[in-house]
Amino acid sequence: MEVNNNYKNKNIEKLANMFSILGDNTRLQIVTLLMHRDANVGEIASELNMTQSAISHQLRILRDAQILKNSKIGRKVIYSINDDHVMTIINEGLKHMAH
Ligand SMILES: [Zn+2]
Repeated sequence: MEVNNNYKNKNIEKLANMFSILGDNTRLQIVTLLMHRDANVGEIASELNMTQSAISHQLRILRDAQILKNSKIGRKVIYSINDDHVMTIINEGLKHMAH
């Protein structure tokens, strides 16, 4: 595994911000759900048993942090994981919690 040991890396502050955004149960549930399939606000809300406005609020935060992205299909806004790096971070984190 390639290791970046530069503690002065200018992206550390951004990474700390990303971890703080991921440090929320609801947001992690949304991200984990979207690792299995893309979904719109209504689908995520019903899956997590929360209101659409609560989910919208969290989706905006996750998108601003570039953890998620969205695309429009007709009038529907579909959310998905931004890229494979995000997938790896969450997957490895979940594996780490399982042992
Ligand atoms: Zn581990």
